[in-house]
Amino acid sequence: MTIQETVPTFESLNPANGEVVGTHPVHGEAAVRAAVERAREASQWWAALGFDGRAEILGQWKGVITRRIQQLAGLMHDETGKPHGDAALEAGLAIDHLGWAAKHAEKVLSRQRRPSGMLMANVAASVEYRPLGVIGVIGPWNYPVFTPMGSIAYALAAGNAVVFKPSEYTPGIGQWLAATFSEVCDKPVFQVVTGYGETGAALCKAGVDKLAFTGSTATGKRVMAACAETLTPVLIEAGGKDAMIVDEDADLDAAVDATVWGACSNAGQTCAGVERVYVHERVYDEFLDKLVSAAKDVTAVDAPGSLVGPITMPSQIDIIRKHIDDAIARGGRAVLGGPEAVGERFVQPTILVDVPEDSAAVQDETFGPTMTVTKVHDMAEAVRLTNGTRYALGSSVFSKKNGMAVAEQIRAGMTAVNSVLSFAGIPSLPFGGVGDSGFGRIHGPDGLKEFTYAKAIARQKFKAPMLLTSFGRTEKQDKQFLQILTMMHGRSKTLK
Ligand code: NAD
Repeated sequence: MTIQETVPTFESLNPANGEVVGTHPVHGEAAVRAAVERAREASQWWAALGFDGRAEILGQWKGVITRRIQQLAGLMHDETGKPHGDAALEAGLAIDHLGWAAKHAEKVLSRQRRPSGMLMANVAASVEYRPLGVIGVIGPWNYPVFTPMGSIAYALAAGNAVVFKPSEYTPGIGQWLAATFSEVCDKPVFQVVTGYGETGAALCKAGVDKLAFTGSTATGKRVMAACAETLTPVLIEAGGKDAMIVDEDADLDAAVDATVWGACSNAGQTCAGVERVYVHERVYDEFLDKLVSAAKDVTAVDAPGSLVGPITMPSQIDIIRKHIDDAIARGGRAVLGGPEAVGERFVQPTILVDVPEDSAAVQDETFGPTMTVTKVHDMAEAVRLTNGTRYALGSSVFSKKNGMAVAEQIRAGMTAVNSVLSFAGIPSLPFGGVGDSGFGRIHGPDGLKEFTYAKAIARQKFKAPMLLTSFGRTEKQDKQFLQILTMMHGRSKTLK
Protein backbone atom coordinates (compact mmCIF):
# COMPACT_ATOMS: atom_id res chain seq x y z
CA MET A 1 0.00 0.00 0.00
CA THR A 2 1.46 3.39 -0.94
CA ILE A 3 1.32 6.40 1.37
CA GLN A 4 -0.93 8.06 -1.21
CA GLU A 5 -3.65 5.44 -0.66
CA THR A 6 -3.78 6.04 3.09
CA VAL A 7 -4.46 9.79 2.83
CA PRO A 8 -7.89 10.54 4.29
CA THR A 9 -10.27 12.61 2.21
CA PHE A 10 -13.15 15.05 2.71
CA GLU A 11 -15.94 16.31 0.52
CA SER A 12 -16.92 19.81 -0.51
CA LEU A 13 -20.68 20.27 -0.70
CA ASN A 14 -23.01 22.51 -2.67
CA PRO A 15 -24.61 24.70 0.05
CA ALA A 16 -27.81 25.15 -1.98
CA ASN A 17 -28.69 21.46 -1.96
CA GLY A 18 -26.03 19.51 -0.04
CA GLU A 19 -24.79 17.63 -3.13
CA VAL A 20 -21.13 16.57 -3.24
CA VAL A 21 -19.06 18.85 -5.48
CA GLY A 22 -15.69 17.16 -5.03
CA THR A 23 -13.47 14.93 -2.89
CA HIS A 24 -10.09 16.16 -1.70
CA PRO A 25 -7.19 14.91 0.43
CA VAL A 26 -6.83 15.96 4.05
CA HIS A 27 -3.16 16.90 4.07
CA GLY A 28 -1.44 16.25 7.38
CA GLU A 29 1.72 17.73 8.90
CA ALA A 30 4.14 15.64 6.82
CA ALA A 31 2.45 16.44 3.52
CA VAL A 32 2.30 20.14 4.33
CA ARG A 33 5.95 20.22 5.36
CA ALA A 34 6.92 18.40 2.16
CA ALA A 35 5.01 20.96 0.09
CA VAL A 36 6.85 23.79 1.85
CA GLU A 37 10.20 22.08 1.23
CA ARG A 38 9.40 21.68 -2.47
CA ALA A 39 8.36 25.32 -2.54
CA ARG A 40 11.62 26.39 -0.90
CA GLU A 41 13.67 24.85 -3.68
CA ALA A 42 11.40 26.27 -6.36
CA SER A 43 11.48 29.71 -4.73
CA GLN A 44 15.16 30.10 -5.58
CA TRP A 45 14.50 29.38 -9.24
CA TRP A 46 11.48 31.69 -9.23
CA ALA A 47 13.37 34.55 -7.54
CA ALA A 48 16.25 34.16 -10.01
CA LEU A 49 13.85 34.53 -12.94
CA GLY A 50 13.64 38.23 -12.17
CA PHE A 51 10.69 40.55 -12.62
CA ASP A 52 10.38 40.11 -16.39
CA GLY A 53 10.55 36.30 -16.27
CA ARG A 54 7.97 36.14 -13.51
CA ALA A 55 5.70 38.68 -15.21
CA GLU A 56 5.81 36.55 -18.35
CA ILE A 57 4.60 33.42 -16.50
CA LEU A 58 2.05 35.30 -14.39
CA GLY A 59 0.76 36.87 -17.61
CA GLN A 60 0.30 33.42 -19.14
CA TRP A 61 -1.54 32.25 -16.01
CA LYS A 62 -3.77 35.34 -16.17
CA GLY A 63 -4.62 34.43 -19.76
CA VAL A 64 -5.51 30.84 -18.85
CA ILE A 65 -7.78 31.94 -15.98
CA THR A 66 -9.44 34.59 -18.14
CA ARG A 67 -10.14 32.19 -20.99
CA ARG A 68 -11.63 29.66 -18.57
CA ILE A 69 -13.42 32.12 -16.32
CA GLN A 70 -16.81 30.49 -16.94
CA GLN A 71 -15.49 27.13 -15.76
CA LEU A 72 -14.02 28.73 -12.65
CA ALA A 73 -17.23 30.69 -11.99
CA GLY A 74 -19.20 27.44 -12.30
CA LEU A 75 -17.05 25.79 -9.66
CA MET A 76 -17.34 28.87 -7.42
CA HIS A 77 -21.12 28.73 -7.83
CA ASP A 78 -21.17 25.05 -6.91
CA GLU A 79 -18.89 25.32 -3.86
CA THR A 80 -20.17 28.59 -2.36
CA GLY A 81 -23.67 28.91 -3.82
CA LYS A 82 -22.98 32.44 -5.07
CA PRO A 83 -24.72 33.42 -8.34
CA HIS A 84 -22.72 32.70 -11.48
CA GLY A 85 -22.51 36.40 -12.43
CA ASP A 86 -21.14 37.35 -9.01
CA ALA A 87 -18.61 34.53 -9.25
CA ALA A 88 -17.39 35.75 -12.65
CA LEU A 89 -17.17 39.32 -11.31
CA GLU A 90 -15.09 38.13 -8.35
CA ALA A 91 -12.76 36.11 -10.56
CA GLY A 92 -12.47 39.02 -13.00
CA LEU A 93 -11.36 41.41 -10.27
CA ALA A 94 -8.79 38.85 -9.06
CA ILE A 95 -7.42 38.59 -12.62
CA ASP A 96 -7.09 42.38 -12.74
CA HIS A 97 -5.10 42.31 -9.49
CA LEU A 98 -2.87 39.55 -10.84
CA GLY A 99 -2.13 41.68 -13.90
CA TRP A 100 -1.38 44.75 -11.78
CA ALA A 101 0.93 42.90 -9.41
CA ALA A 102 2.94 41.34 -12.25
CA LYS A 103 3.22 44.65 -14.10
CA HIS A 104 4.15 46.87 -11.16
CA ALA A 105 6.37 44.62 -9.05
CA GLU A 106 9.61 45.83 -10.63
CA LYS A 107 8.84 49.53 -10.21
CA VAL A 108 7.77 49.10 -6.58
CA LEU A 109 10.38 46.60 -5.40
CA SER A 110 13.57 47.05 -7.40
CA ARG A 111 16.52 48.98 -5.98
CA GLN A 112 15.84 52.66 -5.62
CA ARG A 113 18.00 55.52 -4.42
CA ARG A 114 17.27 57.32 -1.18
CA PRO A 115 18.70 60.70 -0.10
CA SER A 116 21.62 60.07 2.25
CA GLY A 117 21.32 63.32 4.23
CA MET A 118 23.90 65.95 5.16
CA LEU A 119 25.70 63.86 7.80
CA MET A 120 26.34 61.00 5.35
CA ALA A 121 26.64 63.07 2.16
CA ASN A 122 29.60 60.95 0.99
CA VAL A 123 27.46 57.78 0.93
CA ALA A 124 25.08 56.58 -1.79
CA ALA A 125 21.96 55.16 -0.14
CA SER A 126 19.57 52.71 -1.76
CA VAL A 127 16.97 50.11 -0.87
CA GLU A 128 15.39 47.15 -2.62
CA TYR A 129 12.60 44.82 -1.54
CA ARG A 130 13.60 41.18 -1.69
CA PRO A 131 11.33 38.13 -1.62
CA LEU A 132 11.02 36.40 1.74
CA GLY A 133 11.10 32.88 0.27
CA VAL A 134 7.99 30.76 0.86
CA ILE A 135 4.65 32.32 1.77
CA GLY A 136 1.88 30.27 3.37
CA VAL A 137 -1.57 31.54 2.42
CA ILE A 138 -4.67 30.46 4.37
CA GLY A 139 -7.94 31.51 2.79
CA PRO A 140 -11.65 31.80 3.57
CA TRP A 141 -14.63 30.52 1.57
CA ASN A 142 -16.63 33.72 1.07
CA TYR A 143 -14.46 35.14 -1.75
CA PRO A 144 -12.46 32.00 -2.48
CA VAL A 145 -10.65 33.48 -5.52
CA PHE A 146 -10.47 37.24 -4.95
CA THR A 147 -9.39 37.12 -1.31
CA PRO A 148 -6.52 34.60 -1.41
CA MET A 149 -5.35 36.00 -4.76
CA GLY A 150 -4.78 39.30 -2.97
CA SER A 151 -1.94 37.48 -1.23
CA ILE A 152 -1.01 34.82 -3.83
CA ALA A 153 -0.64 37.16 -6.83
CA TYR A 154 1.30 39.80 -4.91
CA ALA A 155 3.54 37.25 -3.16
CA LEU A 156 4.37 35.52 -6.46
CA ALA A 157 5.00 38.80 -8.27
CA ALA A 158 7.38 39.80 -5.48
CA GLY A 159 9.41 36.63 -6.13
CA ASN A 160 8.14 34.17 -3.51
CA ALA A 161 6.83 30.64 -3.85
CA VAL A 162 3.40 30.05 -2.30
CA VAL A 163 1.70 27.15 -0.51
CA PHE A 164 -2.04 27.82 -0.33
CA LYS A 165 -4.52 26.21 2.08
CA PRO A 166 -8.02 27.06 0.85
CA SER A 167 -11.08 26.86 3.10
CA GLU A 168 -12.49 23.37 3.65
CA TYR A 169 -15.67 24.72 1.98
CA THR A 170 -13.86 25.66 -1.24
CA PRO A 171 -10.98 23.19 -1.78
CA GLY A 172 -11.89 22.58 -5.43
CA ILE A 173 -11.33 26.25 -6.26
CA GLY A 174 -7.88 26.14 -4.67
CA GLN A 175 -7.04 23.01 -6.65
CA TRP A 176 -8.30 24.66 -9.83
CA LEU A 177 -6.02 27.66 -9.31
CA ALA A 178 -2.97 25.46 -8.65
CA ALA A 179 -3.76 23.20 -11.62
CA THR A 180 -4.00 26.14 -14.03
CA PHE A 181 -0.75 27.59 -12.66
CA SER A 182 1.01 24.28 -13.28
CA GLU A 183 0.00 24.53 -16.94
CA VAL A 184 2.22 27.60 -17.32
CA CYS A 185 4.99 26.66 -14.87
CA ASP A 186 6.29 23.13 -14.28
CA LYS A 187 8.06 23.98 -11.00
CA PRO A 188 6.22 23.83 -7.63
CA VAL A 189 6.13 27.58 -7.28
CA PHE A 190 2.44 27.63 -6.38
CA GLN A 191 0.98 24.58 -4.62
CA VAL A 192 -2.21 23.82 -2.77
CA VAL A 193 -2.73 21.74 0.37
CA THR A 194 -6.29 20.90 1.40
CA GLY A 195 -8.02 19.99 4.62
CA TYR A 196 -9.63 21.48 7.72
CA GLY A 197 -8.22 23.88 10.31
CA GLU A 198 -5.53 21.33 11.30
CA THR A 199 -4.02 21.59 7.81
CA GLY A 200 -3.89 25.35 8.22
CA ALA A 201 -2.31 24.94 11.65
CA ALA A 202 0.29 22.60 10.10
CA LEU A 203 1.12 25.26 7.49
CA CYS A 204 1.79 27.78 10.28
CA LYS A 205 4.44 25.41 11.69
CA ALA A 206 5.89 24.13 8.43
CA GLY A 207 8.73 26.61 8.12
CA VAL A 208 7.15 29.24 5.86
CA ASP A 209 8.77 32.67 5.85
CA LYS A 210 5.47 34.49 6.27
CA LEU A 211 1.87 33.44 6.80
CA ALA A 212 -0.89 35.43 5.10
CA PHE A 213 -4.18 34.63 6.78
CA THR A 214 -7.66 35.68 5.75
CA GLY A 215 -10.58 34.52 7.88
CA SER A 216 -12.26 35.19 11.19
CA THR A 217 -10.65 37.22 13.96
CA ALA A 218 -10.80 34.22 16.34
CA THR A 219 -8.84 31.99 13.93
CA GLY A 220 -6.48 34.87 13.17
CA LYS A 221 -5.49 34.92 16.85
CA ARG A 222 -4.78 31.18 16.77
CA VAL A 223 -2.69 31.58 13.61
CA MET A 224 -0.71 34.41 15.16
CA ALA A 225 -0.08 32.41 18.35
CA ALA A 226 1.15 29.40 16.34
CA CYS A 227 3.40 31.58 14.18
CA ALA A 228 4.81 33.35 17.25
CA GLU A 229 6.58 30.12 18.25
CA THR A 230 8.91 30.41 15.28
CA LEU A 231 8.81 34.20 14.95
CA THR A 232 7.09 33.71 11.60
CA PRO A 233 5.60 37.06 10.55
CA VAL A 234 1.87 37.17 9.84
CA LEU A 235 -0.54 39.20 7.76
CA ILE A 236 -4.04 39.07 9.25
CA GLU A 237 -7.07 39.97 7.14
CA ALA A 238 -9.95 39.33 9.53
CA GLY A 239 -13.61 40.18 10.01
CA GLY A 240 -15.49 43.44 9.71
CA LYS A 241 -18.64 45.28 10.75
CA ASP A 242 -18.67 47.96 8.12
CA ALA A 243 -20.87 51.02 8.26
CA MET A 244 -22.53 53.06 5.53
CA ILE A 245 -23.09 56.75 6.36
CA VAL A 246 -25.82 58.69 4.53
CA ASP A 247 -25.67 62.48 4.83
CA GLU A 248 -28.61 64.87 4.42
CA ASP A 249 -27.48 65.96 0.93
CA ALA A 250 -26.80 62.43 -0.37
CA ASP A 251 -28.19 61.10 -3.62
CA LEU A 252 -30.64 58.82 -1.82
CA ASP A 253 -31.41 56.53 -4.75
CA ALA A 254 -27.73 55.89 -5.30
CA ALA A 255 -27.19 55.38 -1.55
CA VAL A 256 -30.09 52.91 -1.37
CA ASP A 257 -28.82 50.96 -4.38
CA ALA A 258 -25.32 50.77 -2.86
CA THR A 259 -26.65 49.79 0.57
CA VAL A 260 -28.80 46.96 -0.75
CA TRP A 261 -25.95 45.57 -2.84
CA GLY A 262 -23.33 46.17 -0.15
CA ALA A 263 -25.45 44.40 2.48
CA CYS A 264 -27.05 41.60 0.47
CA SER A 265 -24.71 40.60 -2.37
CA ASN A 266 -22.97 37.30 -1.70
CA ALA A 267 -25.81 36.75 0.82
CA GLY A 268 -24.13 39.33 3.07
CA GLN A 269 -21.08 37.11 3.49
CA THR A 270 -18.63 39.88 2.70
CA CYS A 271 -15.89 40.93 5.10
CA ALA A 272 -16.28 44.54 3.96
CA GLY A 273 -20.03 44.31 3.33
CA VAL A 274 -22.48 46.85 4.77
CA GLU A 275 -23.85 45.67 8.13
CA ARG A 276 -24.74 49.02 9.75
CA VAL A 277 -26.27 52.16 8.21
CA TYR A 278 -26.25 55.60 9.88
CA VAL A 279 -28.60 58.10 8.25
CA HIS A 280 -29.00 61.84 8.84
CA GLU A 281 -32.32 62.51 10.60
CA ARG A 282 -33.47 64.88 7.84
CA VAL A 283 -33.50 62.10 5.24
CA TYR A 284 -33.92 59.05 7.49
CA ASP A 285 -37.62 58.34 6.77
CA GLU A 286 -37.29 58.80 3.02
CA PHE A 287 -34.12 56.68 2.91
CA LEU A 288 -35.71 53.89 4.94
CA ASP A 289 -38.84 53.79 2.72
CA LYS A 290 -36.71 53.58 -0.39
CA LEU A 291 -34.41 50.99 1.19
CA VAL A 292 -37.26 48.69 2.20
CA SER A 293 -38.89 48.83 -1.21
CA ALA A 294 -35.56 48.17 -2.99
CA ALA A 295 -34.53 45.31 -0.69
CA LYS A 296 -37.97 43.68 -1.02
CA ASP A 297 -37.16 42.85 -4.64
CA VAL A 298 -34.02 40.96 -3.63
CA THR A 299 -34.87 37.40 -2.73
CA ALA A 300 -32.68 34.42 -2.03
CA VAL A 301 -34.02 31.28 -3.69
CA ASP A 302 -32.63 28.03 -5.03
CA ALA A 303 -33.21 28.87 -8.68
CA PRO A 304 -31.12 30.06 -11.59
CA GLY A 305 -31.13 33.84 -11.79
CA SER A 306 -31.54 34.36 -8.03
CA LEU A 307 -29.68 37.54 -7.05
CA VAL A 308 -28.71 36.05 -3.70
CA GLY A 309 -27.44 32.55 -3.01
CA PRO A 310 -27.54 30.36 0.09
CA ILE A 311 -25.55 30.80 3.29
CA THR A 312 -22.38 28.87 2.49
CA MET A 313 -21.48 27.72 5.99
CA PRO A 314 -24.44 26.04 7.75
CA SER A 315 -23.25 27.10 11.24
CA GLN A 316 -23.58 30.78 10.23
CA ILE A 317 -27.38 30.44 10.03
CA ASP A 318 -27.54 30.20 13.83
CA ILE A 319 -25.42 33.31 14.29
CA ILE A 320 -27.63 35.31 11.90
CA ARG A 321 -30.77 34.09 13.72
CA LYS A 322 -29.29 34.95 17.13
CA HIS A 323 -28.36 38.49 16.04
CA ILE A 324 -31.87 39.14 14.69
CA ASP A 325 -33.61 37.62 17.76
CA ASP A 326 -31.38 39.54 20.15
CA ALA A 327 -31.96 42.83 18.31
CA ILE A 328 -35.73 42.36 18.51
CA ALA A 329 -35.64 41.22 22.14
CA ARG A 330 -33.77 44.43 22.97
CA GLY A 331 -36.35 46.75 21.43
CA GLY A 332 -35.38 46.63 17.75
CA ARG A 333 -37.91 46.14 14.93
CA ALA A 334 -37.60 44.32 11.62
CA VAL A 335 -39.05 46.58 8.92
CA LEU A 336 -38.19 43.90 6.38
CA GLY A 337 -37.52 40.22 6.99
CA GLY A 338 -36.86 39.27 10.60
CA PRO A 339 -36.70 35.88 12.33
CA GLU A 340 -38.91 34.29 9.68
CA ALA A 341 -36.43 35.38 6.98
CA VAL A 342 -33.94 32.82 8.27
CA GLY A 343 -34.51 29.55 6.43
CA GLU A 344 -32.68 26.25 6.48
CA ARG A 345 -30.18 27.21 3.77
CA PHE A 346 -31.27 30.68 2.57
CA VAL A 347 -31.76 33.97 4.44
CA GLN A 348 -33.93 36.77 3.02
CA PRO A 349 -32.83 40.41 3.31
CA THR A 350 -33.58 41.81 6.74
CA ILE A 351 -33.63 45.46 7.80
CA LEU A 352 -33.57 46.18 11.53
CA VAL A 353 -34.24 49.59 13.11
CA ASP A 354 -34.11 50.96 16.68
CA VAL A 355 -31.44 48.43 17.59
CA PRO A 356 -29.31 49.41 20.64
CA GLU A 357 -25.73 50.19 19.69
CA ASP A 358 -24.30 47.69 22.16
CA SER A 359 -26.24 44.71 20.76
CA ALA A 360 -24.66 41.88 18.82
CA ALA A 361 -26.37 42.96 15.58
CA VAL A 362 -24.43 46.25 15.77
CA GLN A 363 -21.17 45.11 17.35
CA ASP A 364 -20.46 41.61 15.98
CA GLU A 365 -20.03 40.32 12.45
CA THR A 366 -23.41 38.88 11.34
CA PHE A 367 -22.31 37.69 7.87
CA GLY A 368 -25.83 37.52 6.49
CA PRO A 369 -28.03 39.76 4.27
CA THR A 370 -29.04 41.85 7.27
CA MET A 371 -28.45 45.46 8.26
CA THR A 372 -29.27 47.80 11.11
CA VAL A 373 -30.41 51.32 10.15
CA THR A 374 -29.96 54.07 12.74
CA LYS A 375 -30.99 57.74 12.74
CA VAL A 376 -28.25 60.27 13.59
CA HIS A 377 -28.43 64.01 14.35
CA ASP A 378 -25.39 64.91 12.33
CA MET A 379 -22.26 63.53 10.70
CA ALA A 380 -20.27 63.84 13.93
CA GLU A 381 -22.63 61.33 15.56
CA ALA A 382 -22.49 59.11 12.47
CA VAL A 383 -18.69 59.05 12.65
CA ARG A 384 -18.69 58.40 16.39
CA LEU A 385 -21.02 55.42 16.04
CA THR A 386 -19.21 54.13 12.95
CA ASN A 387 -15.99 54.15 14.94
CA GLY A 388 -17.67 52.42 17.87
CA THR A 389 -16.91 48.76 17.15
CA ARG A 390 -13.72 46.79 17.68
CA TYR A 391 -13.62 46.09 13.92
CA ALA A 392 -12.35 48.62 11.40
CA LEU A 393 -12.10 47.20 7.88
CA GLY A 394 -14.05 49.15 5.23
CA SER A 395 -16.78 51.79 5.24
CA SER A 396 -18.76 54.05 2.90
CA VAL A 397 -20.16 57.56 2.89
CA PHE A 398 -22.82 59.08 0.68
CA SER A 399 -22.68 62.87 0.70
CA LYS A 400 -22.46 65.51 -2.01
CA LYS A 401 -20.56 68.13 -0.02
CA ASN A 402 -18.85 66.40 2.89
CA GLY A 403 -17.87 62.98 1.56
CA MET A 404 -14.11 63.43 1.89
CA ALA A 405 -14.34 65.24 5.24
CA VAL A 406 -16.43 62.44 6.75
CA ALA A 407 -14.27 59.72 5.14
CA GLU A 408 -11.14 61.17 6.73
CA GLN A 409 -12.63 60.87 10.22
CA ILE A 410 -13.52 57.19 9.93
CA ARG A 411 -11.17 54.73 11.60
CA ALA A 412 -11.01 52.01 8.95
CA GLY A 413 -8.58 50.67 6.38
CA MET A 414 -10.73 51.79 3.47
CA THR A 415 -13.63 54.17 2.79
CA ALA A 416 -15.69 54.47 -0.39
CA VAL A 417 -17.27 57.88 -1.03
CA ASN A 418 -20.53 57.86 -3.03
CA SER A 419 -19.99 54.20 -3.89
CA VAL A 420 -19.63 50.95 -2.01
CA LEU A 421 -16.67 48.54 -1.91
CA SER A 422 -15.07 50.32 -4.88
CA PHE A 423 -11.67 50.32 -3.12
CA ALA A 424 -11.45 46.52 -3.48
CA GLY A 425 -11.50 46.78 -7.27
CA ILE A 426 -8.65 49.31 -7.49
CA PRO A 427 -5.41 47.30 -7.65
CA SER A 428 -3.22 50.26 -6.73
CA LEU A 429 -5.00 50.79 -3.38
CA PRO A 430 -4.02 48.88 -0.24
CA PHE A 431 -6.66 46.67 1.38
CA GLY A 432 -6.69 45.69 5.05
CA GLY A 433 -7.98 46.56 8.48
CA VAL A 434 -7.29 48.03 11.88
CA GLY A 435 -8.14 46.64 15.33
CA ASP A 436 -9.95 43.29 15.26
CA SER A 437 -10.07 43.46 11.46
CA GLY A 438 -6.35 42.65 11.43
CA PHE A 439 -3.17 44.27 10.16
CA GLY A 440 -0.91 44.31 7.17
CA ARG A 441 -2.06 45.07 3.64
CA ILE A 442 -2.79 43.21 0.43
CA HIS A 443 -3.07 44.96 -2.98
CA GLY A 444 -1.12 47.89 -4.36
CA PRO A 445 2.50 48.77 -3.62
CA ASP A 446 1.90 48.07 0.10
CA GLY A 447 0.62 44.61 -0.82
CA LEU A 448 3.75 43.85 -2.84
CA LYS A 449 6.05 45.06 -0.06
CA GLU A 450 4.13 42.94 2.46
CA PHE A 451 5.78 39.84 0.98
CA THR A 452 9.35 41.17 1.00
CA TYR A 453 12.02 42.41 3.32
CA ALA A 454 13.73 45.74 2.79
CA LYS A 455 17.43 45.44 1.97
CA ALA A 456 19.27 48.73 2.48
CA ILE A 457 22.77 49.41 1.13
CA ALA A 458 24.94 52.41 2.04
CA ARG A 459 27.90 52.66 -0.38
CA GLN A 460 30.70 55.13 0.34
CA LYS A 461 31.31 57.28 -2.75
CA PHE A 462 34.29 59.22 -1.44
CA LYS A 463 36.17 59.62 1.82
CA ALA A 464 34.42 62.05 4.13
CA PRO A 465 36.42 65.00 5.46
CA MET A 466 35.02 63.99 8.86
CA LEU A 467 34.64 60.24 9.36
CA LEU A 468 31.98 59.77 12.05
CA THR A 469 32.20 56.00 12.28
CA SER A 470 35.78 55.75 13.52
CA PHE A 471 37.78 55.84 16.76
CA GLY A 472 40.05 58.18 14.81
CA ARG A 473 37.59 61.04 15.37
CA THR A 474 39.29 64.07 16.98
CA GLU A 475 37.93 66.39 19.67
CA LYS A 476 37.80 69.15 17.07
CA GLN A 477 35.71 66.97 14.79
CA ASP A 478 33.30 66.17 17.64
CA LYS A 479 32.84 69.93 18.14
CA GLN A 480 32.31 70.45 14.41
CA PHE A 481 29.75 67.66 14.43
CA LEU A 482 27.78 69.37 17.22
CA GLN A 483 27.95 72.70 15.36
CA ILE A 484 26.54 71.10 12.22
CA LEU A 485 23.89 69.32 14.28
CA THR A 486 22.82 72.60 15.90
CA MET A 487 22.63 74.21 12.46
CA MET A 488 20.47 71.36 11.17
CA HIS A 489 18.19 70.68 14.13
CA GLY A 490 18.76 73.30 16.81
CA ARG A 491 16.50 76.02 15.52
CA SER A 492 12.95 75.87 16.82
CA LYS A 493 11.60 77.53 13.69
CA THR A 494 12.14 74.27 11.79
CA LEU A 495 9.28 72.87 13.84
CA LYS A 496 5.94 73.46 12.18
P1 NAD B 1 -12.26 30.84 9.43
O1 NAD B 1 -11.47 31.67 10.37
O2 NAD B 1 -13.23 29.88 9.98
O3 NAD B 1 -11.32 30.00 8.46
C1 NAD B 1 -10.36 30.62 7.62
C2 NAD B 1 -9.32 29.61 7.24
O4 NAD B 1 -8.55 29.27 8.39
C3 NAD B 1 -9.86 28.29 6.69
O5 NAD B 1 -9.06 27.89 5.60
C4 NAD B 1 -9.71 27.34 7.86
O6 NAD B 1 -9.58 26.00 7.49
C5 NAD B 1 -8.42 27.86 8.47
N1 NAD B 1 -8.22 27.50 9.89
C6 NAD B 1 -9.13 27.17 10.82
N2 NAD B 1 -8.53 26.94 12.01
C7 NAD B 1 -7.22 27.12 11.83
C8 NAD B 1 -6.07 27.06 12.68
N3 NAD B 1 -6.17 26.76 13.96
N4 NAD B 1 -4.87 27.34 12.15
C9 NAD B 1 -4.74 27.70 10.85
N5 NAD B 1 -5.78 27.77 9.99
C10 NAD B 1 -7.01 27.49 10.47
O7 NAD B 1 -12.98 31.90 8.46
P2 NAD B 1 -14.02 31.62 7.29
O8 NAD B 1 -15.33 31.27 7.91
O9 NAD B 1 -13.43 30.71 6.29
O10 NAD B 1 -14.11 33.05 6.60
C11 NAD B 1 -14.99 34.05 7.00
C12 NAD B 1 -14.26 35.10 7.78
O11 NAD B 1 -13.23 35.66 6.97
C13 NAD B 1 -15.14 36.28 8.15
O12 NAD B 1 -14.85 36.70 9.45
C14 NAD B 1 -14.73 37.35 7.16
O13 NAD B 1 -14.97 38.67 7.57
C15 NAD B 1 -13.28 37.07 7.01
N6 NAD B 1 -12.75 37.63 5.76
C16 NAD B 1 -11.90 38.70 5.84
C17 NAD B 1 -11.42 39.28 4.67
C18 NAD B 1 -10.47 40.45 4.73
O14 NAD B 1 -9.86 40.74 3.72
N7 NAD B 1 -10.32 41.13 5.85
C19 NAD B 1 -11.79 38.75 3.44
C20 NAD B 1 -12.64 37.68 3.39
C21 NAD B 1 -13.11 37.11 4.57
